[in-house]
Amino acid sequence: MKLLIIEDEVKTAEYLKKGFGEQGCAVDVAFNGIDGQHFALVHDYDAIVLDAMLPGLDGFAVLGALRKVKQTPVIMLTARDRVEDRVRGLHAGADDYLVKPFSFLELLARLYALQRRGRCQERANLSIADLQIDLIARKAWRGGTRIDLTAKEFALLAALARREGEILSKTTIAELVWDMNFDSNTNVVEVAVKRLRTKIDTTFSPKLLHTIRGMGYVMEQREAETVS
Ligand code: CA
Repeated sequence: MKLLIIEDEVKTAEYLKKGFGEQGCAVDVAFNGIDGQHFALVHDYDAIVLDAMLPGLDGFAVLGALRKVKQTPVIMLTARDRVEDRVRGLHAGADDYLVKPFSFLELLARLYALQRRGRCQERANLSIADLQIDLIARKAWRGGTRIDLTAKEFALLAALARREGEILSKTTIAELVWDMNFDSNTNVVEVAVKRLRTKIDTTFSPKLLHTIRGMGYVMEQREAETVS
């Protein structure tokens, strides 16, 4: 997940950056509204954590400018005694809000919830070559042949297919598919990828799930690849 944090309190911003970094997220930080708005408009983030009270340009102004062009999910951080800020934020297009002080785990959970919601609205079906995935019914086919997948295998397939052409590290995959108690010292991801590959690639061509040594895995159709 690629995140932007717009927060003028350096300590809070650093704490969030560290926390999300440990979760395998890529995090950009802006310490004022002007930089924040610039980053938000120029780059594509999976979500933005936006403080309401910022020097220069406040969070509502940043959100207003952003919503004219983009629907990046936004969680606003508001002060406990400012109920009107929450209402104003939601009206301005914030997807969720958290009242300061908040727990990092709650922020993380809400961000993942936003991701899930966003992705559902995005597309109900995915296809790569002759692989078809129905994200609502949670079913997959290759060349019209139904592929029998466990819930975890389907989640892994969906995570990779949604990011077609994007190399996902094991850490990222673990974050996307497993819960926060996932033990990164195990080879669970490798084993799961191997099982998924057996089901979706072994008896089909072209191969779609590729290992990128030292980096992770990518799902894509490679035009130049010779079919064996
Ligand atoms: Ca602030």
